[in-house]
Amino acid sequence: MRETTERAWAKLNLSLDVTGRREDGYHDLAMLMQTVSVGDELRLRLRDDGKVFASSNLRFIPGDERNLAVRAALRFFEALGISGQGLQIDIRKEIPVGAGMGGGSADAAAVLRGLNRLYDTPFSRAELERISQQIGSDVAFCVAGGTALAQGRGELLRDLRPMPDCFFALCKPGFSISTPELYQKLDASPVRIHPDTAGLLAAVEAGDLRALCRRMYNVFEDVDDRRLRTVAEIKGRLLDYRALGAVMTGTGSAVFGVFERAEDAERACESLRGEYKFCRTAKPVPRGE
Ligand code: ATP
Repeated sequence: MRETTERAWAKLNLSLDVTGRREDGYHDLAMLMQTVSVGDELRLRLRDDGKVFASSNLRFIPGDERNLAVRAALRFFEALGISGQGLQIDIRKEIPVGAGMGGGSADAAAVLRGLNRLYDTPFSRAELERISQQIGSDVAFCVAGGTALAQGRGELLRDLRPMPDCFFALCKPGFSISTPELYQKLDASPVRIHPDTAGLLAAVEAGDLRALCRRMYNVFEDVDDRRLRTVAEIKGRLLDYRALGAVMTGTGSAVFGVFERAEDAERACESLRGEYKFCRTAKPVPRGE
């Protein structure tokens, strides 16, 4: 086999806590993660000329090693001990860029899964997750996805029972928020409120959607940044449309609400669509899909 296709599902942070600062400059995190049905499509084609590059329907996304998908391929070949192997990665982006939905990480994980298939499964899931750590913090989670607790820099994963069935309304305003910038602002003042991670885990294990949604919280929402007013505004609107809970994902700028009924999620999206760039509904995606 010389080529394959792979879906890359976006991730949402149902909660995000920063629990400490590490000596290596990174932060210690505790995040409840969920993959959702907004996905890029990747086509992987082995090449004989040794070139590894990506192309995409979005012109501004780099095709060289700055692209996490390219980095993933290089790390995969390295781990396999082969040099000079070429690969063309064609990406059809559906995941909004700079949204906190882990688009680049999802693409990288999809490349690892796709190449693992093309090479007749030389690596286990745990080994792919280990390779992921050299690429980016959220890549390890994106290898299998589903519902999981991610700790450390995001690489320490605990699989959880799938979150209860529900519908998401996702909304990203026109601007993005730089991740390093928001971390700097977070470091400038102490975190006042932390999510109740133990309570969130108990809610997931009990299959209690309402208890889960009541506890969703992201420490970055409390950072002093003017753009977060828009985030708060969108959250308010989602709650007006009967979301059980609404929260920003990652370092934004996308916000999502969780709904019991598809009609309510659709109505919320319709009301926001005129004002904000990206609005759509989605469902949770189970682990391994
Ligand atoms: P996260 O939730 O992990 O912070 P994000 O959704 O905020 O991610 P991405 O959309 O993954 O951010 O990527 C943001 C930056 O990464 C962009 O500047 C983009 O150029 C670069 N990038 C590298 N590879 C990719 C890729 N495969 N898809 C999208 N962006 C990529």
